[in-house]
Amino acid sequence: MFVVMTRSATEAEILGVKSHILGEGLTPYDHVGAERVVIAVVGEIGGRRPVLLDRLAAMPGVEAVTPISRPFKLTSREFHPEDTIIRVLDAAVGDGSLTVMAGPCSVESRDQLFSTAESVAASGATILRGGAFKPRTSPYSFQGLGVEALRYLAEARERSGLPVITEVMEPSQVDIVAEYADILQIGTRNMQNYSLLRDVGRVARPVMLKRGYGATVEEWLMAAEYIVAAGNPNVILCERGIRTFETYTRNTLDLSAVPLLHHLTHLPVIVDPSHATGKRWLVKPLAVGGVAVGADGVMVEVHPDPESALSDAEQQLDHAGFADLMAALIPIHEHVRGLHSDPLVAGPGLGLDAGPDGPAKH
Ligand code: PEP
Ligand code: MN
Repeated sequence: MFVVMTRSATEAEILGVKSHILGEGLTPYDHVGAERVVIAVVGEIGGRRPVLLDRLAAMPGVEAVTPISRPFKLTSREFHPEDTIIRVLDAAVGDGSLTVMAGPCSVESRDQLFSTAESVAASGATILRGGAFKPRTSPYSFQGLGVEALRYLAEARERSGLPVITEVMEPSQVDIVAEYADILQIGTRNMQNYSLLRDVGRVARPVMLKRGYGATVEEWLMAAEYIVAAGNPNVILCERGIRTFETYTRNTLDLSAVPLLHHLTHLPVIVDPSHATGKRWLVKPLAVGGVAVGADGVMVEVHPDPESALSDAEQQLDHAGFADLMAALIPIHEHVRGLHSDPLVAGPGLGLDAGPDGPAKH
């Protein structure tokens, strides 16, 4: 449930509500909005719900107590109506600007990374990507340069001015990746690795959580909830395609997830057309589609010589391909800017729409 405080609630009244919640063995999380404070009550409330609801509603400074049926709380729009904006160095994600994360699938060498960093920065990328620890389907495939790649990424940040994002695959890597990178990426295979989610929830770096390739939107938001509940509110969601019966594409990009997420959550949403399609020539139309449906940005793989790439050779753009993509994305982004506030895009009233099991699925 959420406790909505009055606009004039005092610090003491807010503290009173929080200590009552703590006294019940539950955890209060407060969100200080532009106008008022909302306190989420998190934990196993069970049969205490009606009594607790009445008690909290009667406390001084409380305007309303709303029971909330969604399983995700801190990541929900109800708790935090304003969009979350994530600032990292000179970049901002979720502020209405177009975020473009670009760079190689894997960091393969200093020269390879620096050449791509320089080129994508000149074309308008806002964040540099590059895999250091690579989750590969085969144990015999290139597994990444590890810490050596992290050092190159940090150097590339100094040279290009772009913040860097790279994947962290296991809890033991969290500290070292956080030391070098500006944003930590959780890959699709790890979306439900709960110990990893808790650990990245404890570091002072934004996290980009990719959707599990077999995960529902609700499971994905619950995974984000782990990170936020552990203390890290700066989570970016990345739709990178889900597995369906279709085999022409590597995955199926679920574009409907983008406006759906903007409706359900305040967290920014990025689309990754590279891993979604697995095909270079499909990256541009799907990136354009992602921006058109309101994504806060895209993540795209770029390599100086894609054919020779040590991973994901078929889906990486070359430098000219990336420049061409940027030229297509900028006007689309300008065109759809502001659509988020359109009621058609914003969806029905919060909490009134059917949940995941609502409408018939035929
Ligand atoms: C990646 O972005 O490097 C990656 C491995 O992506 P995913 O986890 O979406 O497969
Ligand atoms: Mn890749």
